[in-house]
Amino acid sequence: MIKEIAEQLKTRFSEMDIEVPLEEIESKLDALINEYRVPVDEAKRSVVNQYLRKSDIPELVKIRDIQSEGQWVSLKAKVVQLWTSESESIAQAGLIGDETGTIKFTKWAKSDLPLVEEGKCYMFKNVVTDEWQGRFQVNFNKNTEIQEIEENIEVGSSVEEITGAIMNIQSGSGLIKRCESCNRALVKGSCGEHGKVEGKYDLRVKAVIDDGKIVQDILLNKDTIETLTGITLDSAKEMVAEALDPSVVLDALADKLVGRYFKVQGPKIGRYMLVEEIQKMPVASDHEIKELIAQVEAL
Ligand SMILES: [Zn+2]
Repeated sequence: MIKEIAEQLKTRFSEMDIEVPLEEIESKLDALINEYRVPVDEAKRSVVNQYLRKSDIPELVKIRDIQSEGQWVSLKAKVVQLWTSESESIAQAGLIGDETGTIKFTKWAKSDLPLVEEGKCYMFKNVVTDEWQGRFQVNFNKNTEIQEIEENIEVGSSVEEITGAIMNIQSGSGLIKRCESCNRALVKGSCGEHGKVEGKYDLRVKAVIDDGKIVQDILLNKDTIETLTGITLDSAKEMVAEALDPSVVLDALADKLVGRYFKVQGPKIGRYMLVEEIQKMPVASDHEIKELIAQVEAL
């Protein structure tokens, strides 16, 4: 059995231009499996990792293909977003993306790697895949190499779809103001980056949709809100001017959205799905249900 696994691994290594004698793989596997009683899969992974690190030619993969933890891989990706981290052990964290999607990354402080910048593209060699709360991520450690690359990577997003009920609309929804310079939503007339600014009006909905199995945070932009609810930016401004209370818009939106069924589609960025398409799903009315029951009873 060990010989067979060794042959499989040798083939896999050859495909990656790594030449390792079959006997060497065999003896490593033999030691791990028979001497140290390591489970077969783990032994395989361990041997693979040893050579990947040594040869410095780890497998170049696409983000979509990261489906297991503990793998050493290389990625060509763009830094989509950097997050502020509270932990001293983390140098940088955020999202990187390639044509197939985005993934969270963590760069450990101990790794002593160069700082990456938002919007720049890099070759990330020797990163380790990991899983946290059901989602895959990659970690950069002291075996990792980061090189900036010239080519620009168009970050694709894996579009997802959920059909469910909107459970609630969160504060920060409705008629909001954004900073003219950086587009951040203002909090009490203030931009996190530019301080007190005049700002420009926008419509936004942050909500939660529940399909019975999962609960997903969603973001609706102005165009989607206008088409879906008939509440436009202009009519929202009028409502606020009349009521002298900005919360009327949020209430009016909640009235049209909460407790109703929708099919939403869009890319997931971090915890939010950015809704690109939304469709009202018909829910049978009381009258329709009574008619259906009558029909069934008549059979
Ligand atoms: Zn700003």
